[in-house]
Amino acid sequence: MPGKLPEQTLAWGRSRSCIRELSEYAARRKAEIGAENVFDFSLGNPSVPAPDCVNEATAELLKLDSVSLHGYTTAAGLLSLREAIAENLNERFDARLSADRLYVTCGAAASLAISLRAVLLPGDEVVVLAPFFPEYRVFAEASGGVLKVVPPRARDFQLDERAFAAALSEKTKAVIVNSPNNPSGVVLSRESLERMAALLRRCGEETGSAPFLICDEPYRELVYGGVEVPYVPALYENTIVCYSFSKSMSIPGERIGYIALGADMESWREVYAAVMGAGRALGYVNPPSLFQRVVERCIGHTADVSTYRENRDLLCSSLRELGFECVEPQGAFYLFMRSPEPDAKAFSERAKRYELMLVPGDDFGCPGYVRIAYCVPGRQIERSRDAFALLAKEYSL
Ligand code: PLP
Repeated sequence: MPGKLPEQTLAWGRSRSCIRELSEYAARRKAEIGAENVFDFSLGNPSVPAPDCVNEATAELLKLDSVSLHGYTTAAGLLSLREAIAENLNERFDARLSADRLYVTCGAAASLAISLRAVLLPGDEVVVLAPFFPEYRVFAEASGGVLKVVPPRARDFQLDERAFAAALSEKTKAVIVNSPNNPSGVVLSRESLERMAALLRRCGEETGSAPFLICDEPYRELVYGGVEVPYVPALYENTIVCYSFSKSMSIPGERIGYIALGADMESWREVYAAVMGAGRALGYVNPPSLFQRVVERCIGHTADVSTYRENRDLLCSSLRELGFECVEPQGAFYLFMRSPEPDAKAFSERAKRYELMLVPGDDFGCPGYVRIAYCVPGRQIERSRDAFALLAKEYSL
């Protein structure tokens, strides 16, 4: 008989995410009625191939000495990869970074879990802007933090300055922002970020300790129509960037991302030591060695995201034509649509009758909306139009 297991980990393991549940339901329906008859918009799995250089670099690397290729790298990731990342960020954003401010991780999930573990003391508060990636709660609570959710400004999902200011206190250790956003597709404007920075600075002055701003940025390169995604460390000194190549290079299964400590961060060496310590504590050391090398060779290349843009335009215009209300999506590959009835879970259930898989926004801290992941073949969007039309009819839109 094994000993008693922790309630918290059991609860996390047992609770089923809405997204997983829906995608498993979609898989069952596909087996029953054929994949082409199910309009599965449940998962944020990139649908465009990785840039050619990824396969080319992999093939080249496989010719190298197997022992060193597949051996351990340093805990913080290969120095040459960190140098390549720093050079790329310096060129693009005048970031003034060096390899010693970078820590290579197994994707944004690891970047976030490590960053929170590095900075949180038990009871510290982590402010998140709704809608937010549901795993933030697990990452924060696993490190003793308490999540505090701030609603967005209703008209455009930008920062609600008053609500944000009200959430800050001497307990605030970190704020997480995700832009371009999953699930809304909204890109936080420079103005929103500057106001946020000013409020964080004021909070720091009043309490004596400035909160960390953790920027979760796996969708940075997925923006449409020339929208600016401001480089946040240039706006606020205590910024930790959590990046991932999962979406920009279409390699989510290969698990490569990084943590970057902004060039103006105070006591950055201490924070970096805490990041190293958190990586050790969580066992997140040495991300996959082959793909660290692949990413190093492919830095600066992104998957062709024009397909996502076409999908966004098609989906957004046809949903609006049908009378649905959508938040203007500027990036990532998600569209956030207002549920025509207050209960988005009930709406999502009803959509299933037309084989439409739409994720209720409740788990993202935004009830009353559904998320539509449009990283799917364009054909699926065209073919789903009739189903959406029938759904709209049910609500007399
Ligand atoms: N953050 C957000 C907002 C995401 O949407 C995802 C994945 O979908 C992650 C983090 C985790 O990404 P990764 O695959 O790099 O761990």
